[in-house]
Parts: sequence; structure tokens; C-alpha cells
Amino acid sequence: MATPDQTLILQSVVRCPLCGHRETEIMPRDACQWFYDCKGCGALLKPEPGDCCVFCSYGTVPCPPFQQGCTCFG
Ligand SMILES: [Zn+2]
Repeated sequence: MATPDQTLILQSVVRCPLCGHRETEIMPRDACQWFYDCKGCGALLKPEPGDCCVFCSYGTVPCPPFQQGCTCFG
């Protein structure tokens, strides 16, 4: 059963594990973002093992594909 788009949360606050900087980002609706440049310290963040994207690792909300049952990491 398809999930209506309205239930998707596209905004996530990414918290850098290195410097603690928080930045509100709009996530791509149908893609996993593997890399993220911290706007605080400039570090290139990558997902932690087992996570499909940086939003799942460091964001307050998992990425939209994950919200829809993404299997890209399985
Ligand atoms: Zn940082």
C-alpha cells in the first residue's frame, strides 16, 4: 500500500557529530544522500554503518525513502 506524500517529513535537523553544529536541511524526496558537508566545521559526513544516508545517522528525521520503507541499505 502506497504512503501518501503528505505523511512524508522532508525537513530534518542534521547534527554534526564532530562539532555539534545543527543545520535544518530539506531532504531529497526520493533519494538517499550519502554525503553531507557540515556547515559548521566543513567536515564531510558519511552515514554510520547500517544507515542508508546521513539523515538517518545524524538527522532528527530519517530520510523520505526510509519513511516509505526504503531497502537500499538491506
Ligand atoms: Zn561539524
